[in-house]
Amino acid sequence: MKQLIIGLTGGIGSGKTAVSDLFAARGITIADADVASREVVQPGMPALGKIVAHFGEQILLPDGSMDRAALRSIVFSDPAERKFLESVTVPAIMNRLQEILENSTSPYAILMLSSGSGQHPWIRRHLVVDVSEATQLARVTARDQNEEAQVRAIMATQPTRQQRLDYADDVITNEGTLAALEQQVDQLHNKYLILSGSVSSTPESSEER
Ligand code: ATP
Repeated sequence: MKQLIIGLTGGIGSGKTAVSDLFAARGITIADADVASREVVQPGMPALGKIVAHFGEQILLPDGSMDRAALRSIVFSDPAERKFLESVTVPAIMNRLQEILENSTSPYAILMLSSGSGQHPWIRRHLVVDVSEATQLARVTARDQNEEAQVRAIMATQPTRQQRLDYADDVITNEGTLAALEQQVDQLHNKYLILSGSVSSTPESSEER
């Protein structure tokens, strides 16, 4: 990948979408694995054809779109079926992300890999959105009307706060207001423009790791 790729991660409800929206508003390409995972199984896409050929039409809704709940219940209790599903979707998602990044004309681009460790060889710097568990719980229960126990169960499947911080090159602390978040994004945007070589750095502002 020729472009500077920033990997953006953070736990559930940490503010990844809020942060990526701010970078997008500054003209930066966002390649989001969650968005790509929905795109690659749209009706007419090859991945959906392979999934239907394997699982049957029972995983389709009447309008021809994928019945995510039906598929989830099949793969939930069957690791082999889950593996098959991933063998179809993961390469399709990575191809879609690669296409977005290769077509990007912004000075640098952001890759959001929400699930798993958020690591990928395309990524040159890791940006982590960091909040306390209490803030995660408060924001997700307010956003999704989820029970606290449900949110805790999802958090338990994700890397820990410390694991994320251990591989972070840059950290955004999202405990304050949205205005404070925007200020941090602006600082990082300026830093990434310098690192990407699209603006020259002054001795005071250059801060390579
Ligand atoms: P997920 O992991 O579920 O995709 P996320 O990391 O993308 O979540 P967001 O959806 O950006 O997180 O933020 C979670 C919720 O918290 C949203 O409702 C968002 O509007 C709100 N939020 C994010 N940052 C702040 C902030 N600084 N102040 C107040 N609310 C915030």
